[in-house]
Amino acid sequence: MAKQNAPVKKNETITLTFEDLTHEGNGVGKIAGYPIFVPNGLPGEEADVKVIKVNKRFGYGKLLNIKKASPERVTPPCDVYYKCGGCQLQHMSYDMQLEMKRNQVKNVMQKVAHLESVPVHPVLGMEDPWRYRNKIQIPVGEKDGELITGFYQQRSHRIIDDMDTCVIQNELGDRMVEAVRRIATDLGIEAYDENTHRGVLRHIIVRTAFGTNDTMIILVTRTEKLPHQTELIKQLTETYPASKSIIQNVNKEKTNVIMGKKSRTIYGEDYIYDAIGDLKFKISPRSFYQVNPTQTKVLYNKALEYASVGPNDVVIDAYCGIGTISLFLAQKAQKVYGVEIVPEAIDDAKINAKLNGITNAEFVVGEAEKVMPWWTAQGLRPDVIVVDPPRKGCDEALLQAMIDMAPKRIVYVSCNPSTLARDLRILEDGGFKTQEVQPVDMFSQTNHVECVSLLQRETI
Ligand code: SAH
Repeated sequence: MAKQNAPVKKNETITLTFEDLTHEGNGVGKIAGYPIFVPNGLPGEEADVKVIKVNKRFGYGKLLNIKKASPERVTPPCDVYYKCGGCQLQHMSYDMQLEMKRNQVKNVMQKVAHLESVPVHPVLGMEDPWRYRNKIQIPVGEKDGELITGFYQQRSHRIIDDMDTCVIQNELGDRMVEAVRRIATDLGIEAYDENTHRGVLRHIIVRTAFGTNDTMIILVTRTEKLPHQTELIKQLTETYPASKSIIQNVNKEKTNVIMGKKSRTIYGEDYIYDAIGDLKFKISPRSFYQVNPTQTKVLYNKALEYASVGPNDVVIDAYCGIGTISLFLAQKAQKVYGVEIVPEAIDDAKINAKLNGITNAEFVVGEAEKVMPWWTAQGLRPDVIVVDPPRKGCDEALLQAMIDMAPKRIVYVSCNPSTLARDLRILEDGGFKTQEVQPVDMFSQTNHVECVSLLQRETI
């Protein structure tokens, strides 16, 4: 019934002027006050738009033809950009991308955290925002008897079948995926089929360490057996003799989660090394590792600056992964405690401490929201806490533990501004004051944005 109120009809073609941009990167235009969201539309532009969805309060459209283009519009270098679901911002200038991301952060600081006056600095961007990723993770499909590798089309699980390169991945990773695809096709290895839950090869993952040139190939299979394994390894290592590690990961489940729990090293080492600044890190297949090495340095430097740790300080690094931030903190602190849920990552963190001659860092496997209250009960009162949670943000029990521990400072590293703002509100109510927020562009060309924020405890 309510749909009848909308001033547009499905499949109708309209002329729209875009006034605004959503944080997903969609242009927003209005017809009689009714907002229509259109991917690839830019503010100031006038365009013909086909209405494709009509909801009660807003609709969606498809850009047909631009009548008046924005000066910020650029030609996307990627051939499959308009089909692929990977990037959302290649059609806008890099300056506009950074401005949009800063506005998104400002917006949630006001609307979600109710922090009207907190400084949100201009986004720290990349000099060259292309080919920055150190990890390519790509689904495998089949077409006309050939394996194909490509990202999913927007809002679907259809693999783009004509993607030959991804311009945000580093070139070596890109080429290694192509080598696996070609060799596996020649050997007759089948692709996994989501619909029937049959076939073998699900994903190809390549990690390249920019600091050491180590590479790791991970072949995710549905089956325990990897057909033609010996021949596949032979041909791959002939093509890339410097390969350090080839891993088979078995994922038998009907799931969108890419990797299964079981990994088997089928060639070389079961890890690679990377270096950031003066520290070296061992990385296992299932351990988290930042995907943009250039900006990781920028992010970590900012986090360390905000943490401002001195030789008498005790520090907690929650959601510590393989201990990257922890070990930089440990170089300055009296003692650092790290907590992380993935056991392999904690094994890596312990080895990484040894590898770098660091003896004042202690790592614990567990859910941060359980371990932090336990530490509080043990009487641990850190001077500084660093948190770097996944997209869903911090658990309430963890936020409460931070409030109970009452550190001088909290540094909150976040890959999701909405959950960051939600959690800042809780910490503010618990006696902390947000000093500043620094967005960092870790995911150029996409609509994701990373932030580091500094909170101080209010002195009573
Ligand atoms: N600070 C690290 C890792 C950040 S990513 C770095 O910069 O590399 C977030 C990490 O949190 C991941 O390693 C993930 O495995 C871990 N994690 C997710 N949920 C968790 C939980 N409930 N408790 C502890 N760690 C968790």
